[in-house]
Amino acid sequence: MISFERRMDSVEFRIHSEAHIVVDDTICRDCSVRGCITACPADLFVPTSDGGILFNYEQCFECGTCYLVCNEEGAISWNYPEGGHGVVFHSS
Ligand code: SF4
Ligand code: SF4
Repeated sequence: MISFERRMDSVEFRIHSEAHIVVDDTICRDCSVRGCITACPADLFVPTSDGGILFNYEQCFECGTCYLVCNEEGAISWNYPEGGHGVVFHSS
């Protein structure tokens, strides 16, 4: 299996100033499943000590997995970044 470091070395991110994914932390506090934490291949969902979720959009692969696994309606607002921004995959 490809390591996390190697996976991150194969991409670059053209970061837009506005987040393309927004997580409503108040909804996450009532979530007992928390599938996003293990499902995100970029490790962007981090549980906080007070029961919330810390999320950073900057290094997102735009795979959509978090949106699919999230079991709480409205917790994740998901869009692609504006054209010319977001992840760029390199072949080697
Ligand atoms: S699965 Fe959805 S509601 Fe649960 S912690 Fe993750 S983003 Fe929040
Ligand atoms: S779209 Fe994929 S990489 Fe981006 S936050 Fe969701 S699971 Fe993580």
